[in-house]
Amino acid sequence: MTAPAPRPARRVACPGCGAPAVYGPENPWRPFCSERCRAIDLGAWAAESYRIPLREGESEAPAEKAPGAAGGPDTPDG
Ligand SMILES: [Zn+2]
Repeated sequence: MTAPAPRPARRVACPGCGAPAVYGPENPWRPFCSERCRAIDLGAWAAESYRIPLREGESEAPAEKAPGAAGGPDTPDG
């Protein structure tokens, strides 16, 4: 019976710099190779994705008024 050999660390290409990064619990910055790459990527993501594109023309869509909210026939005009 062979002893369970430790699995070789899986490596992936760092999304930041392309260097081989260890994809495992031993690498807290996975799938990045280092904290720096992760920080850079997160920064870029935050800068580009935080801006939600607003659809022009639909931002001020006429909301359906509730019946009798205003201008109803039975307005207390006194
Ligand atoms: Zn990297």
